[in-house]
Amino acid sequence: PPPPPFFLLIRRPPRPTRVTSSAASDVYTTPPPPSGRKVAVIGAGPAGLAVAELLAEMGHASTVFEYWPEPGGVLVYGIPNFKMRKQIVDDYIAHLEALGIEFRCNTYVGKDITVDEMLDGEYDAVFLGTGAGVGNELGIEGEDLEGVHRATDYLVRGNLLPHQLPEHLQEPLPQPTKVAVIGGGDTSMDCVRTAVRMGAETVTCVYRRTEAEMLGRGEERINAREEGVQFEMLTAPLRILGDENGKATGVECIRMRLGEPDDSGRRRPVPIEGSEFVIEADTIPIAIGYGADPVVPETTSGLSTSWGALIEIDDGGRTSRRGVFAGGDNVNGADLVVTALADGRVAAEAIAAYLDTLD
Ligand SMILES: Cc1cc2nc3c(=O)[nH]c(=O)nc-3n(C[C@H](O)[C@H](O)[C@H](O)COP(=O)(O)OP(=O)(O)OC[C@H]3O[C@@H](n4cnc5c(N)ncnc54)[C@H](O)[C@@H]3O)c2cc1C
Repeated sequence: PPPPPFFLLIRRPPRPTRVTSSAASDVYTTPPPPSGRKVAVIGAGPAGLAVAELLAEMGHASTVFEYWPEPGGVLVYGIPNFKMRKQIVDDYIAHLEALGIEFRCNTYVGKDITVDEMLDGEYDAVFLGTGAGVGNELGIEGEDLEGVHRATDYLVRGNLLPHQLPEHLQEPLPQPTKVAVIGGGDTSMDCVRTAVRMGAETVTCVYRRTEAEMLGRGEERINAREEGVQFEMLTAPLRILGDENGKATGVECIRMRLGEPDDSGRRRPVPIEGSEFVIEADTIPIAIGYGADPVVPETTSGLSTSWGALIEIDDGGRTSRRGVFAGGDNVNGADLVVTALADGRVAAEAIAAYLDTLD
């Protein structure tokens, strides 16, 4: 049988009367009476959606603020359709709307409205589920050439429809001929497999260590190989080459060997002098990891962060700012859907306990 919709996995024993069936749209609940409390949830990814749902089940209203035009976080704006059916997310959002949860998309918190303004206004508490969606850069020559993309921009333009995207990303990607994806994790595999589906003639994954050090799931690499993706292991990009029109034409690379282990415990790649060579490519997605967006910490008073704008919390998801909670990738760094859901669940309980203390 197919796996259950992911939201069923986060359910705890229901408080209200409930009849469920296997389809999200067939879930009926009798919510408890409204508590009169209202929570702002920032970010409509798994962490934020879990918080909003669990609070609704306790009678607390919430508004979910989201930067992208549609809710779902990386479930929609990252993980490609061929890896996860988007109907699952659509059904879940329909279920949340039926619970009375309000969505305000196309809203960049920190710029359009701040957390301080929310707490001064109609909201009793705030949950920060802003993820870690800022793609790391290589910091090499040629990164601004046409045809070079951050992984998420490439994935959303390659897999979503223009109306699902903000204006600056609505132009469809040109037909690729030769694609070189830099990086060797799961996001990189999503990029190479997207390139295959877009009809690229050659798709190459460039990774500076060996397969043994790759952090992503082996299953994803098996899928990619079966689809014809080439792997250039022990290879690092030196610069991106372009033509006179500013379009990328290839990646100059250097071969590496493995040296002593680094801080991550993995053997450090060391360049082999004189081994430079060029991989021709007109499309070059950069998939070398993600960091958290600092805009919310920078615009929220009293919010402590650690290195890389990650938000500090206690074991109940409470931040250093009273009434502000956090969880998911903006706390853990780039991680997994299940961890974000679990964090949301912990934070929802803590938020409910906090709301009970307000008179
Ligand atoms: C390409 C890719 C593939 C992945 N594949 C898998 C996989 O197969 N399995 C797995 O378990 N995990 C996978 N992950 C990781 C997983 O998706 C994340 O760990 C998970 O989505 C984190 O959930 P979250 O709610 O913390 O953050 P996100 O899903 O990132 O959601 C955060 C949301 O907050 C919004 N936001 C951020 N800042 C603001 C702001 N200032 N104002 C308003 N909105 C804001 C963002 O737009 C986003 O929608 C993948 C990640 C990527 C990038």
